[in-house]
Amino acid sequence: MGKVLIIGAGGVGTVVAHKVAQNPDVFTDIMIASRTKQKCDAVVKAIGNPAIQTAQVDADNVDELVALFNSFRPDIVINVALPYQDLTIMEACLKTGVNYLDTANYEPKDVAHFEYSWQWAYKKRFEDAGLTAILGCGFDPGVSGVYTAYAAKHHFDEIQYLDIVDCNAGNHHKAFATNFNPEINIREITQNGRYYENGQWVTTKPLEIHKALTYPNIGPRDSYLLYHEELESLVKNFPTIKRARFWMTFGQEYLTHLRVIQNIGMARIDEVEYNGMKIVPLQFLKAVLPDPQDLGENYDGETSIGCRIRGLKDGKEHTYYIYNNCSHQAAYKETGMQGVSYTTGVPAMIGAMMFLKGLWKRPGVWNVEEFDPDPFMEQLNKQGLPWHEVMDGDLEL
Ligand code: NDP
Repeated sequence: MGKVLIIGAGGVGTVVAHKVAQNPDVFTDIMIASRTKQKCDAVVKAIGNPAIQTAQVDADNVDELVALFNSFRPDIVINVALPYQDLTIMEACLKTGVNYLDTANYEPKDVAHFEYSWQWAYKKRFEDAGLTAILGCGFDPGVSGVYTAYAAKHHFDEIQYLDIVDCNAGNHHKAFATNFNPEINIREITQNGRYYENGQWVTTKPLEIHKALTYPNIGPRDSYLLYHEELESLVKNFPTIKRARFWMTFGQEYLTHLRVIQNIGMARIDEVEYNGMKIVPLQFLKAVLPDPQDLGENYDGETSIGCRIRGLKDGKEHTYYIYNNCSHQAAYKETGMQGVSYTTGVPAMIGAMMFLKGLWKRPGVWNVEEFDPDPFMEQLNKQGLPWHEVMDGDLEL
């Protein structure tokens, strides 16, 4: 049905490659390209399908990307490199007539700032080129938006309150490690919190607001209000929303390490002089922390991510909770990666499948909630991320 090029061979890229290879009726030709070609070759070896091609590419360099796209001629690129590369990859797609999908919004390297404006600015150019760009198609952002669209389509006339709840109740048995790229993860968590209420954004201090929330099959976990990028598109695409928030669980041990990292300056993203050269402390820290890709083997427990929604149907107030629980060990057995990479990589593959099947094909730049959620939801159940619903339960929020 179509040719796919995966860019990035980290934890998420590895899962995407496994899942794409499991669906040969849709993905007829596969290439995985990244900064380090050996990592791509290792992924292909683990999958055991020598027909998957690999290549080296610097995705910061538009010309290199253009040359690669012109030689492989993919129908769609799945960008699971880092958020810094979103715009160069989108540029290369426009120059070569290739469609685009990613899992995280563009961030400039020198400011930790999350907003869609940079990528939304490409809308007209993608429209004019007749190309589709699907933004934020991991779990959160990604499935969180599809869940919201599904709730709006089937269960509510008006969504009024949306809380996205993200719990990782797994244990990797390391003193401190991040579940995905440490640089991206620490930049996100050390930011001010932010949520949307009555048409305005309310800013909080980092991790200032928290409360215990109960997660299915897990129990209560302290959950912290963070800013998360999908809030920006969801309040725009569902204007009846009065309040939208995002919550993520953290253990005390994790938070203590994070506080020390910040207090000693290791979370800094500006350059410092060290032994006659310039280094960025957070990038140096990444080099000494455990690689998130190596956490899978000893990871037990599960993740639980979902949307808790309150709104109106036929004039009456209802609540709705939709979620997925994902076992780290089951993810590891299937793909060699832990649950956080798995829950991101599976939806990225499904988004590309939706495009190639012509179900999510529309010139322009789109967030996932702007497409029909139903075929995507059906695939979540088939591809390893089954979902569950609770109607009119206590949302705790
Ligand atoms: P990793 O750091 O494990 O992998 C990133 C990969 O991109 C690596 O293979 C790296 O190469 C490659 N890469 C980095 N820079 C370049 C470049 N300039 N050119 C080519 N390749 C490059 O990250 P993850 O797999 O954990 O995360 C991937 C993406 O997924 C990130 O954007 C992250 O924000 C996003 N994400 C989204 C989530 C969601 O739910 N929406 C959740 C978790 C992650 P090398 O190996 O050489 O360093």
